[in-house]
Amino acid sequence: MNTRLSAIHADITTLRVDAIVNAANSSLLGGGGVDGAIHRAAGPELLAECRLLGGCKTGDAKITRGYRLPARHVIHTVGPVWRGGDQGEPELLASCYRRSIEVAAQHGLRSLAFPAISTGVYGYPIDSATRVAVAATRSAIHGHPSIEEVIFCCFSGRDLSIYERYLSETISI
Ligand code: ADP
Repeated sequence: MNTRLSAIHADITTLRVDAIVNAANSSLLGGGGVDGAIHRAAGPELLAECRLLGGCKTGDAKITRGYRLPARHVIHTVGPVWRGGDQGEPELLASCYRRSIEVAAQHGLRSLAFPAISTGVYGYPIDSATRVAVAATRSAIHGHPSIEEVIFCCFSGRDLSIYERYLSETISI
């Protein structure tokens, strides 16, 4: 369909979209990296709502409100920890993107922004992770034409250049 996919270099907590995606851990009770930044920017009400969710499995996604964020919602997904690549990591990472898009569509959301899930503390190599992120997102939005815009929010210029390379290719996995 005509969903616009783009990559930008930004702090995801500043984006005014229907939902930003959080690279959370399975407790959903906050952590470091992008998770910590999102909780700090959203305020304590976000943690209070997360406490009611009962955690989240790796590869799944759950939605909350965005509270003090410019984004209306946060979709919390749990990426895989990198353990060498033969422990189901690509499938689990692809599932994060697919489930986040499904949850967004189920809630009538049209625009969302993803961080580079699992590529920080969880250690997933950025090049392989980007390939999975772009392919899984392309495949998932195909079935959800109501999603109009997906932004890949990169926290470094290096990550941005890798996303731009994969977005300019038409291949999918
Ligand atoms: P994980 O545990 O899934 O690896 P991290 O938060 O450690 O999650 O890192 C995921 C990605 O999010 C990394 O690329 C990191 O640089 C990036 N990141 C950290 N803070 C922000 C932010 N405020 N906005 C966007 N991306 C961020």
